[in-house]
Amino acid sequence: MKALVYDGPREVHVKDVPDARIEQPTDVLVKITSTNICGSDLHMYEGRTDLEPGMVLGHENLGIVAEVGKAVVKVSPGDRVCLPFNIGCGFCRNCEEGLTAFCLTVHPDPKMAGAAYGFAGMGPFWGGQAEYLRVPFGDFNCLRLPEDAQDKEADYVMLSDIFPTGWHCTRLADMQPGDSMVVYGAGPVGLMAAYSAMIQGASKVMIVDRHPDRLELAEQIGVIPIDDSKGDPVEQVLEQTGGQGADKGCECVGYQAHDPQGHEDAAMTMNRLVDSVRFTGHIGVVGIFLPQDQNGPDELERNGKIAFDMGKFWFKGQKVGTGQANVKHYNRQLRDLIHQGRAKPSWIISHELPLAEAESGYQHFDARDDGWTKVVLHP
Ligand code: NAD
Ligand code: ZN
Repeated sequence: MKALVYDGPREVHVKDVPDARIEQPTDVLVKITSTNICGSDLHMYEGRTDLEPGMVLGHENLGIVAEVGKAVVKVSPGDRVCLPFNIGCGFCRNCEEGLTAFCLTVHPDPKMAGAAYGFAGMGPFWGGQAEYLRVPFGDFNCLRLPEDAQDKEADYVMLSDIFPTGWHCTRLADMQPGDSMVVYGAGPVGLMAAYSAMIQGASKVMIVDRHPDRLELAEQIGVIPIDDSKGDPVEQVLEQTGGQGADKGCECVGYQAHDPQGHEDAAMTMNRLVDSVRFTGHIGVVGIFLPQDQNGPDELERNGKIAFDMGKFWFKGQKVGTGQANVKHYNRQLRDLIHQGRAKPSWIISHELPLAEAESGYQHFDARDDGWTKVVLHP
């Protein structure tokens, strides 16, 4: 089959690889029809991880069931399904509690929790930027889509990651109706966090970035854009909130945070969030901070040890929630919001490309070229 393979830093190629196939009786084989490029793919693409060349990337997948293993009972060939980027077993302690991003059985290393497709450090599972994807524990991981699956495919594919991830960030921040919210990062994830806050009834949502195209997109859904190339973002948030700071905050950048001049400081957004959120406010963090042993060897090396101002955080009595999104915990409800016309996350898509053009999609998205907000590939 054709697939997008990681061959090294900034080297991804569409090539022939062995076909994905059923390996376990609980597996489902999905013919992929839509698969997104994610900001998380860029950690691998930019060489910030220790991913070995040869991995098929792609963890934001949707398609049609092609074949099912003997033990699969819930889905059948022909069903249209969306796949959470995390692979859960459904029966470990964490999966039972809805914490599927921290599944205790799927990752082959018993010291690890959580598994995902096409991801450094998250197990050997190939991704779906390919013609076919093997889905372990298919009954648990396949989200069946309703009769409008084809018409709304661009919306439903966002259920694989960024819509639930943005939503998760607002839940980590314990956002309540009427709260004000500030989101750092207007990439796809930050835009989905701001959108989720709007849907859940935030009184005022602000988003910080410096890319005019991304800020304009946010403005179109009623979010207040804050351009940090035009002045201190903290001051701008305080001005918007009567000097107190926002009730809640979302971190949607991660360890690749930098200033508008390109100077990297992995702690920048966390420290700015502490300053931008009021005393006793809550902060959700979905931007990725990789542990040290997952970093690449080159000059882009970053780790989880950041210069975070714990003193100020403590003094303000704030709370923080972190981690990968438990996509499975949210995606049925979010699917139903889409089905009922109450959510339409496809508004962030800028480009739809055939899989054969994936390399150029990666280049443009990685460069944050003007207008390249979210790329969907069609194998
Ligand atoms: P992205 O790289 O497209 O977006 C990041 C945005 O942050 C960019 O627009 C960039 O200009 C902006 N930015 C950089 N420094 C900034 C700063 N100091 N202040 C404000 N904005 C700044 O990526 P994305 O797809 O939106 O993903 C964002 C993060 O979320 C990544 O770290 C990604 O790996 C992570 N992620 C986490 C999960 C999860 O489950 N927790 C899921 C998906 C993605
Ligand atoms: Zn993703």
